[in-house]
Amino acid sequence: MHILVISPNYPLEELASFRKLCVSVKYLKSFADSNEIDVKEFSACIVDVQQTHGDGIDACHWLADQTLSLKVFIFNRLNSAFSHCVKHAAQLIGLAADTLPDNAHANYIIQAYNQVSTSMQSELANLGRNSLHQAISNGEFYPVYQPKYALHSKRCIGLEILGRWCPPQKEPISPALFIPMLDKLNLHKMYNQWLFKQVLMEVSALEKASPAIAFNLSVNHLQDIDTCQYIMNCLGYFGFPPEKLTVEVTEDTLMSGQENALVALSLLKDIGVQISLDDFGTGYSSLQQLISFQFDEIKLDQCFLRGVPGNKQNQIILETTITLAQKFDTKLILEGIETKEQEVFARRLGGQFGQGFYYSKPLDIKMLSTFLRSKNS
Ligand code: C2E
Ligand code: MG
Ligand code: MG
Repeated sequence: MHILVISPNYPLEELASFRKLCVSVKYLKSFADSNEIDVKEFSACIVDVQQTHGDGIDACHWLADQTLSLKVFIFNRLNSAFSHCVKHAAQLIGLAADTLPDNAHANYIIQAYNQVSTSMQSELANLGRNSLHQAISNGEFYPVYQPKYALHSKRCIGLEILGRWCPPQKEPISPALFIPMLDKLNLHKMYNQWLFKQVLMEVSALEKASPAIAFNLSVNHLQDIDTCQYIMNCLGYFGFPPEKLTVEVTEDTLMSGQENALVALSLLKDIGVQISLDDFGTGYSSLQQLISFQFDEIKLDQCFLRGVPGNKQNQIILETTITLAQKFDTKLILEGIETKEQEVFARRLGGQFGQGFYYSKPLDIKMLSTFLRSKNS
């Protein structure tokens, strides 16, 4: 879920609390810094109205000009009565505006995230298995492709596949919400099989040879005994080399009780598929897992790139992980590179590979085809 925060103060104290949530936050000091921002990409916006700063109403007008479907939370650390006034003004211009509870002072992003995801989840929970099944069959889901880059040569070294769900006449739903839902309704197998086949079909039809692709697999799907066979059959059918496929798993995959998942990963590794440890640093007992399975790639979670350069603690983690990966002779991808400063800094520390909005946002197949043509020419 993407949340836009318009706040004159950068709420650094919040970074630790959303480390484990699939939530990405874009900060603007003021809405006047908004060039190149597409408001429609966000699920919610928090307008932190400080009386001294006083651009709350202007920010709301700016938001209303772009979309009225965005959930807007008005917030003020010192004076909740003022937030309520701005909320009413925002509602008058048609925004779905609300205030955050008075006790949200220390963690207002989490509060906004909880409110948005709770309302989305209850909407999703009302959808039965049949509706979701139908949504997959009706083509409401589609893959997007986000390039991974070599930092020094600025070449694309592969594409991560991310799922998208866009129900008709509705806002797109984040994979952070629909993946657990598919798992719960036991539809993960149908979804993953459909997605994998769809991706191979799309990339096989590209004019130029496809770059390597990376596929996220949840532990539930890896636990299914036929997952491996299905992947191998598809690779064979489309003539896609296993060495060009990476499977990204998170740390929970290797926890005890998931032995089938480990067997599946080993089988895939045996046929040449690359295995990647995703969101490294946010899970449980990461270092132990680094030695218990020989990963071909580690992806350092994007939360450690936030506030870098400048955030001393994240800088230490970044530097240490780069050294760790070098010592283990494992490829390290730095997730969430959003600015030139982050890229330059990561390179200076010895970082070699990265992924993030600075290079490219996730692209649909049409945009990918244009992107690859421009890179190859
Ligand atoms: P992930 O595998 O770590 O994927 C990276 C997420 O970070 C994606 O979010 C991507 O859009 C976002 N991202 C990439 N670069 C940047 C950046 O520079 N800044 C920020 N703020 N965000 C960036 P997305 O697409 O919302 O996916 C969230 C998570 O959902 C993924 O995290 C992945 O674990 C899971 N997921 C997505 N699609 C699938 C799927 O088809 N199957 C499974 N099992 N999981 C999926
Ligand atoms: Mg991933
Ligand atoms: Mg990740």
